[in-house]
Amino acid sequence: MERVKIRETNLDFGSLTNRATTDMIVLHHTGENDIDVSAEQIHGWHLNQEWAGIGYHFVIRKDGTIERGRPEWAVGSHAYGENSHTLGIHISGDFEQAKPTENQIDSCAALIADLCERYSISCDRAHIVGHGELMPTACPGKNLQALLNNGVLIDRAKSYIYGTVKNEKPPEEKLWNDIQEKIWNFFKNKGLNNYAIAGIMGNLYAESGLIPTNLQNNFESTLGMTDEKYTQSVDNGSYGKEEFMYDSAGYGLAQWTYYARKAALYTFAKGKGKSIGDLDTQLEFLWSELEEHSALLAELKNAESVREVSTLFLLDFERPADQSEGQRAKRAGYSQEFFDKFGGSEMRYNNLDEVPDWAKDTVKKWQELKIINGDGANLDLSADMVRLIVMFERRMRVSI
Ligand SMILES: [Zn+2]
Repeated sequence: MERVKIRETNLDFGSLTNRATTDMIVLHHTGENDIDVSAEQIHGWHLNQEWAGIGYHFVIRKDGTIERGRPEWAVGSHAYGENSHTLGIHISGDFEQAKPTENQIDSCAALIADLCERYSISCDRAHIVGHGELMPTACPGKNLQALLNNGVLIDRAKSYIYGTVKNEKPPEEKLWNDIQEKIWNFFKNKGLNNYAIAGIMGNLYAESGLIPTNLQNNFESTLGMTDEKYTQSVDNGSYGKEEFMYDSAGYGLAQWTYYARKAALYTFAKGKGKSIGDLDTQLEFLWSELEEHSALLAELKNAESVREVSTLFLLDFERPADQSEGQRAKRAGYSQEFFDKFGGSEMRYNNLDEVPDWAKDTVKKWQELKIINGDGANLDLSADMVRLIVMFERRMRVSI
């Protein structure tokens, strides 16, 4: 992504030290009064506390302006015990009472995206945290913390990193959750395991944003039709079967493009008397296609990781033009999100290899300390337990 715009403040600091590791971003607020405080003002406050200067690396004003605080390379002073590996973002206001402005949310998401990319930090809840997750404090206020907890901030940051999928306007949150749940349950009822479902959904998300009426974007202009218009025209026959088959436009959940597949989808939907853009119809059609790929389906049923399915589905089923490592990683990333959202809570990690990278060191340490079962094959930790262990570890580090 393009670097975000930062207003340079050219502040003078006392002695600073170089930060060797950067693997976490911590959000803060001003608290007390809902004031639109500037980096310069905070610099003054922190100098008065005999610090080297402002402790945060960035300040985000109410109009969304991002101001430079402490130099990015320097160890900050914003999260006791955690400064050596974190960047601190201060968002001006009191979010116990007020809410961050839309501009602040957007700038914060863009800044998180930029930092995650430049420092290779995973853009997820393990690495983007509120101050209060590291130690007992109300900072960054319940209203800002809520934007972390409900996924709004991180989802938006991701859209800055990956680009909004197919440029579609995301459906309303409730509808969006219904669509995802419906797709998840559809494959669950077909007997697929959670890895397989997540891997398929990550791919479909990359293709269509999981929007069944999605017409490939560049065709919206060449055909002069929106998703809705195209769907309607195919349904009412004003855009005929032949046109639909041979226009080379990707359409639907899987962005069916090849003429034979589009023709089969058309016949399938018409045969059921359903709209070409109907979600259930497309899922049933997709399933019928998978059943024809019996070898792939067998592999999906025996899948043992999200990444395995995600890549299998990409290479053996979707076969998009871009099959690069980057594209695979992106799809695996989406797949992992669906897994965490729908399948993760039932998930149990049986050995250290299965534990996600961000928690591996901590879990390993706890094994060595024999707090948890040290025998590698019988780890049997739930995803919630792993999260709890990592959270506990962070707090312990603080209080020691
Ligand atoms: Zn704070």
